[in-house]
Amino acid sequence: MHLVTVLYSKFMGLLSRVLMKFIALPAPLVFTGAGSSAALCNAIAGFGHKRVLVVTDKMLVELGIVAQATKALEEQGIGVEVYDAILPDPDFAQVDGGIQHCRTQNCDAVLAIGGGSSLDAAKIIALSAGSDQAPRDVLGFFKVSQRGLPTYCVPTTAGTGSEATMVSVITDTASSTKCFIVDPKLVPSAVALDASLMTGLPPAITAATGMDALTHAIESALSREANDETRQKALTAVSMIFNNLEAAVKDGTNLQTREAMAIASYYAGSAFTITNVGYVHGLAHQLGALCHLPHGLANALFLPHILDFYLDRAAPELARIAQAAGVGQDTDSDQERARKLVTAVRELKSNIGMPSHADGLKEEMVSELVSRALNESHGLYGYPVPKYMRRKECEEIVRKLLPA
Ligand code: NAD
Repeated sequence: MHLVTVLYSKFMGLLSRVLMKFIALPAPLVFTGAGSSAALCNAIAGFGHKRVLVVTDKMLVELGIVAQATKALEEQGIGVEVYDAILPDPDFAQVDGGIQHCRTQNCDAVLAIGGGSSLDAAKIIALSAGSDQAPRDVLGFFKVSQRGLPTYCVPTTAGTGSEATMVSVITDTASSTKCFIVDPKLVPSAVALDASLMTGLPPAITAATGMDALTHAIESALSREANDETRQKALTAVSMIFNNLEAAVKDGTNLQTREAMAIASYYAGSAFTITNVGYVHGLAHQLGALCHLPHGLANALFLPHILDFYLDRAAPELARIAQAAGVGQDTDSDQERARKLVTAVRELKSNIGMPSHADGLKEEMVSELVSRALNESHGLYGYPVPKYMRRKECEEIVRKLLPA
């Protein structure tokens, strides 16, 4: 890279970090507990909205989850318009369709019901439908100049934390890349963490999304941008996930474990939206886009390998995470406890049935994947990781995921 480009990118990265220290990130109003989606709908009616666009996917409509969540809106006489064209890892065409739908139906608010895919799409649909900013014009960091329509979120997976973040991820299908829109104006106005909508989430999706939340929490706790507040949220999320994820995968009908996971995911989202993430995400975004793997699974594949990589530089921080996870003893050295954490992450992954190799990954993809991952991780707003990764080290980690 040209020296001027490197210096410019470092300057912009520094500037954004300084700005983040002074920007008070808005926090959504949070409704919790089984049935809290009805409380959120009552609140939406109270806010004076007349017609709400529900952004979701077909599966959630078929399962009756959308009707269950929106019943209270209809009872209050609010118009409900459903846009259910969202697919996992939504692309620009799905978002553009939603913007069009929202405008032609004269909706004055957007309610997302679904996993991170529906939430991310809804956040951009609301932004663009309520302003004259097209999604592609606001790609990147802090490019949003006007607020869009108010956005409300009911997550039905416990993983992405998108209901708490200023981030939307949209896939560019032509180049198989994930594009980011990051701006405080994307933080939803209110959310409901309603575990009663999550009891039918299949075990494999529960496992993958739970590992996504764990990755957010761990990368946030390890971030050089962590502060006392983000660390508390991240470590609380780690503790809740270690105590509940395996049980949620094995018995999805238990409302207590589902609720703990929903809250943990929200805490992890509120922490990483301030601290940013790290190499696990840098690699997982690229693996997910190139091999079409679910985001949580891609994170889970890389997490233990990246923690191994950090062991010699971040043992005290890893030991603190281990303590939150209930792993190791206070008499252990930091290095011993940090190693035990990595072993515990591998055990958790295996206990919830997650693989160790990436289906579809081929040797000829490694070089491109590594270039893209390092570009994301070291680029304009480079991730505040505890240890710098060289290309050769990155290639070695990616090769560990090649199917045998
Ligand atoms: P998802 O939204 O893609 O959903 C996965 C599948 O689960 C879908 O088929 C959906 O129909 C199904 N599903 C969802 N809830 C269900 C329920 N209660 N019962 C039965 N089936 C259900 O998965 P996800 O992991 O939640 O979201 C992934 C997306 O989120 C990716 O695009 C990723 O890049 C993005 N993401 C965004 C952020 C952010 O801060 N904005 C953070 C992490 C990930």
